[in-house]
Amino acid sequence: MNDILPDEAAKWRLVEDATRTIFSLYGFSELRPPVMERTELFLRGIGDDTDVVEKQMYTFIDKSGDSVTLRPEATACVLRAVIEHGLLNKDPIVKLYSIGPMFRYERPQKGRYRQFHQINAERLGEDGPLADAETLAMAYNLASSILGSDVLLMEVNSLGCKQCRPVFQGALQRFLASRQDNLCGDCKRRMNTNPLRVLDCKVPACKEAVQGAPFIEEHLCEDCRTHYATVLTGLSAFGVHYEKNPRLVRGLDYYTRTTFEITATGLGSQNAIAGGGRYDDLLNILGGPAVGGIGFAFGIERMIMLMGERQERVKGCFVVTQAEPRVEQAALGLMTELRAAGIRVEAAFGKSFKAQMRRADKAGYPFCIIIGATEVDSSTLTVKDMINDVPQRTIKRQDALEEIKPMLFS
Ligand code: AMP
Repeated sequence: MNDILPDEAAKWRLVEDATRTIFSLYGFSELRPPVMERTELFLRGIGDDTDVVEKQMYTFIDKSGDSVTLRPEATACVLRAVIEHGLLNKDPIVKLYSIGPMFRYERPQKGRYRQFHQINAERLGEDGPLADAETLAMAYNLASSILGSDVLLMEVNSLGCKQCRPVFQGALQRFLASRQDNLCGDCKRRMNTNPLRVLDCKVPACKEAVQGAPFIEEHLCEDCRTHYATVLTGLSAFGVHYEKNPRLVRGLDYYTRTTFEITATGLGSQNAIAGGGRYDDLLNILGGPAVGGIGFAFGIERMIMLMGERQERVKGCFVVTQAEPRVEQAALGLMTELRAAGIRVEAAFGKSFKAQMRRADKAGYPFCIIIGATEVDSSTLTVKDMINDVPQRTIKRQDALEEIKPMLFS
């Protein structure tokens, strides 16, 4: 469990602000459930054959003799709140997000803590594949706006439904039975109770043993196959770069059909920053209506770690000028115009071009506006991206505000 010191808190705010801004673009609103629930909620909502329930819950008996648990994940809590307050009676489509701490008794290591924080989103009441694609796109959009898409990988799979998953589970069980001598103790047991979880086991011998196991995609029913195909075309249309990963399963039991994970380079072995998927039966299992949903969770600490390795970005731009009076005059005019529009601007007058660029980089500006004699003579500005390796581009001086606003990191 970590303290978040003032230096770090700015990054946390940035992540939280980006979440609120981006999720509201998709019509999601915030829900703030409590951090503690009755233990039974998680037993029903997560599945008692999972690591989370078997080994990781902070559970205790309170003074009135009730068993309560510090929430290890948010989905069950959000769904409990939706049921308790009848939110689906007021609106058949419910889109919610929440941000807050989760608690799991884990072996602490880099990127794995006992109190950690998640951004969670749940979308209920839509069964179609485009709701899945849009939800995945929202997750991807958040990750790429904070970390840049170059470090991200979105992996997607389908886990089938009540009709086709048992067929696959049967095939998988037969395969695992032939390898059971090589499986760890947990997997020997799970092989019979929940064989899909064996595909997710991190023990090297188990990873080795499942090589050559059947793929779920080959067993999907017609409906699941069509659903999956439409999710993938939807993702492309939303501009999400993804890879199919036929081995991707999730740690929690309740997923059906679409499942996904976003990983990032630069985190070592704990490289998953977000994961989630569709759950068509969970609301019903928890005592709500038979309405499907899809959701995901981001690990905030892991995003913060990546931001640490990358640079903290400033919402603004740096103006690089040539030390020539008429050019500097033009730069002052531009800076005044940008500030009047609420844009943070700095410059380092009289320094060499190199020194100005260095300063812009060190201060974390995402881009520079270069203004020299050529630019003044042609009523243009040159824009240099300080994050992505892309060529400089020229914009018209009169379009400065219009061009710069969308480039600001938010
Ligand atoms: P899960 O709820 O297990 O699907 O996890 C969703 C995301 O939460 C993961 O991709 C991680 O980024 C993050 N996460 C899960 N467990 C931990 C933990 N113990 N410490 C830090 N982050 C975690």
